[in-house]
Amino acid sequence: MKILEHAFILTFGNDHQVIEDGAVAYDQNQILGVGNSDQVRQRFPNAERHSANGRVVTPGLINAHMHLYSTFARGITLKDPPPENFVQILERLWWRLDRAFFQEDLYFSALVPLLDAVRGGVTTIIDHHSSPHALGGSLDTLKTAFHKCGLRGCLSYEISDRDGASRRDAAIEENAACLRGLKLHDSRDIAALIGLHASFTLEDGTLLRVSELSKALKCGVHIHVAEDYADLADARKRGFRSVVDRLHRFHLTGPDNIFAHCVHVDDVDIQTLAFTRTNVVHNPRSNMGNAVGCANIETMMREKVHVTLGTDGFSVNPLQDLAVSNILHKHQSKDPRKIYSEIWRILSHNNPALATAVFKQPIGVIEEHAVPDFVIWDYRPPTPITSENTLGHLLFGISNSSVFSTICKGRTLYENRRFTFMDEEEELEIAKRSRELAKSLWERF
Ligand SMILES: [Zn+2]
Repeated sequence: MKILEHAFILTFGNDHQVIEDGAVAYDQNQILGVGNSDQVRQRFPNAERHSANGRVVTPGLINAHMHLYSTFARGITLKDPPPENFVQILERLWWRLDRAFFQEDLYFSALVPLLDAVRGGVTTIIDHHSSPHALGGSLDTLKTAFHKCGLRGCLSYEISDRDGASRRDAAIEENAACLRGLKLHDSRDIAALIGLHASFTLEDGTLLRVSELSKALKCGVHIHVAEDYADLADARKRGFRSVVDRLHRFHLTGPDNIFAHCVHVDDVDIQTLAFTRTNVVHNPRSNMGNAVGCANIETMMREKVHVTLGTDGFSVNPLQDLAVSNILHKHQSKDPRKIYSEIWRILSHNNPALATAVFKQPIGVIEEHAVPDFVIWDYRPPTPITSENTLGHLLFGISNSSVFSTICKGRTLYENRRFTFMDEEEELEIAKRSRELAKSLWERF
């Protein structure tokens, strides 16, 4: 049992508090006590004590939509003229990249951003994977990378009809095999959802099969929804009112399901997302980079849609998307009052609620019985910090400071800017091997 004391504890969650000279007692499974440093010390006199020396401590961050495999796109040169629209971005970059992956590439492309996650205080990642030519066992490879870095991961393989029937069937089986394996081993740290690419690359027959699988395995889906107008146009061409309408008719809405993006949704879709309690993931940097539009999260949240935050592979750290979200909606609407309290709710409540549902244990809050995942930020508040102004410190202070220490599952993974589970030589070796693999992948691209 350990105590982390002399910290500004930001608890997050429904009853968010800032505890000055706070402490948290924990073991490998859960948080045992939270409060003032003196009180916690008295309650747990035999615990091993560590001081945060007046730094800020938050729960480990949660990324609700990530593509670990996007690592090898860093610095890549496209072989075609620059894409003019979203579908061309997929065709000229992402679908060419994912087809070039071999099994060994997968491990290193996951390991690199997972190490970034540890360095950045991100302890829970909901990933969405694709590698059609290294498909069987790909989720097991990602699982190995998560175990190596000591983080929590939710896996899914994106099912699509775009690479033909045999790869689609193999993708369905990859998800099913992963889910069956996790049920057998009762894993607390690795979860899985059934991955789907997007409505416009999925035939009705595939949606029907996935819907039946989802029911049989009691497992939700993780899918890109109405990211670009092209997805909406395709759903209409198939005779549906919208993408959300199509997925709803195949019984793929609901609280177990994750819909990334939802940029091209209307009021009726928003009502459907709200009453089915479907999770939406906002990925502002990706949407801006792909020039697909700006999701109307203000209306969604007013209508009680459960909106969460992800990065869509832009980087692994959702704090950067939080910062962009704060300015994007103001810029878009030319109204500086737009979107502030909403992003605080997303970060401190909605992302934790999603992770809690996916991993079936309390995640993303510092309270008794929650999982012991924390970040010690190299940030000592230079202005008063309260439960009312925490977001200001996150946006303009904490997100610009570095991580001093990352603790996940009660285990210190990163301390004083050093990994505890590998030495610098191994870090160098990983970067070197990753560069070699990326170089030969780029030749196949
Ligand atoms: Zn995505």
